[in-house]
Parts: sequence; C-alpha cells; structure tokens
Amino acid sequence: MPELPEVETIRRDLEKKIIGKKIIDINVIQKKSLKNSSTEFTKNLKNNSIKSISRKGKLLIFEIKEKKKYLLVHLRMTGQLLYFQAKKEADKNTRIIITFENNSKLFFNDTRRFGYLKITTTKEKNATLEKMGIDILDKNFTQENLKALLQNKRRNLKSILLDQKILAGIGNIYADEICFDAKLRPDAKIETLNDKTVKKLYNSIRKIISLAVKNRGTTISDYVDSSGKNGNFSKLLNVYQREKKVCRNCHQKSIKKIKVASRSTRYCENCQKRYFLTN
Ligand SMILES: [Zn+2]
Repeated sequence: MPELPEVETIRRDLEKKIIGKKIIDINVIQKKSLKNSSTEFTKNLKNNSIKSISRKGKLLIFEIKEKKKYLLVHLRMTGQLLYFQAKKEADKNTRIIITFENNSKLFFNDTRRFGYLKITTTKEKNATLEKMGIDILDKNFTQENLKALLQNKRRNLKSILLDQKILAGIGNIYADEICFDAKLRPDAKIETLNDKTVKKLYNSIRKIISLAVKNRGTTISDYVDSSGKNGNFSKLLNVYQREKKVCRNCHQKSIKKIKVASRSTRYCENCQKRYFLTN
C-alpha cells in the first residue's frame, strides 16, 4: 500500500509531467473507481488542465484550472498513476485514462479496486482535509506538536502511528521502520513514553519518512512510480518483511513477527523496548 513517501514521489514526478497540459479526452473503463458520475467527472476535466498538485498524508489533490474544483486521488491498496508519453494500450487493471493534448496519457490502474478518483468543490476538499491529522512533512509538525497529540492517549504506539486522523501519511511499512529506528516496541503503551522517548520518536518519524522520500519509496508488491519504476527504500528496510532474519543493529536476535493493531508487525526484542521510566 502506498504511504506518504510513495505518494509524494508520484506527486513530484507528475508535477513535472502534466501541469498546464490540456486534457482532450477521458476514458472511464471502470465506473466504480469514480466517486462521481462519469458525466460529471468528464465534464470537469475535459478541455481543462491541472494547475497544481498537492498532497496531504496519502491523498493527492489536483487543482483544476479556473474551475474552483479539485480532483482527489487515493491509491489505497494497489492504485497506480502511470504516465505514458508514447502510445499505450489499457491492460486489465486500467480503470481510468486521461489523455492530454500531446497524446500523452495518465492511467489509473488498480488491481484490488479500493482506490478512487473524486471531483470536489473547494468546500468538500477542505472538509476532507480537515478530517485528517497533521502531515508528517508539514513544517508545523514539531516535537511539541507530537507530544500534544500523544497526551492522554491510552493506546499502543503502532495504532497511533497508523491513525490517519492523528498523523497523516504512515502505513504498515514505515510504522515498523520508525519504531525500530526509535528503539521502541510497536506495542509500547503511549502513556509510558517519557519526554526523552517522545523526542526520539519524533526524530525517527522525520528521519525515516524523509529518507524514504529521498529514495523514492518502497516497492513490496504493487507500488511503482509514475514511470513504472520501483522504489529504492526496499534495500534499506530493517524490519519490514525481515522476520526470522538477523537484526541489522545488534546482530544477535532475529526479527520477530507479531500482531499489533490487527496488523503484522516486526521488531527486534533485543533493540526495541516496551517500558520506560516516567520523567
Ligand atoms: Zn536487534
């Protein structure tokens, strides 16, 4: 499932490829991938262009020029946005095709069909964004801010990291990698974290997410960038899908796999701790 680094990679690439290009055709192959009618979707995009592309958490926001409307795209589990300069035929997973004036095309492919595209007004777009927690790369996401977000929470660390209403952008891969980097067990109780630990957690969140963006994300199964290329962070994974392999930090224990927050979770029992003394 694409998380913040993968979605940000797609955003940065598409910004260079589609901004200002006139849309000349829309082909809706799978209506279920749209949260509007095909007619409404086509009417708002055809003969128009994209003015800007932003992102919050895992959601992409395409600003439609002179319309005061937005195209929201969520890739969910297996969604892909693929840009082709040359002629390209749809495959069995192609749900939507947007064609630009130079005949380049943007494909929305989605095997599992949980992803969606939705045209919204400014008001609807803002309401969607307000329901989300702070984006990890937002300059307003500070250590103090994280401390405040964790206050009075009686949950485990991983469930907080995955909660898009608290922090927007982290999924199963980076949650485990962040916990490993911060030397905290994913099932650590939030109320046991002291100030020093929260600081360490904050630094690890920023460090891992930034490093993953720099490496153009992680490819495990379906994720590819808008050119169809894999992400490079896969080589840097310390715990995710490394169960039973020896820990790269202590070289003593092998990585354990357990369930936390109903998700498969990997950690090193030697390097990561669950309990802390209070301040
Ligand atoms: Zn270890």
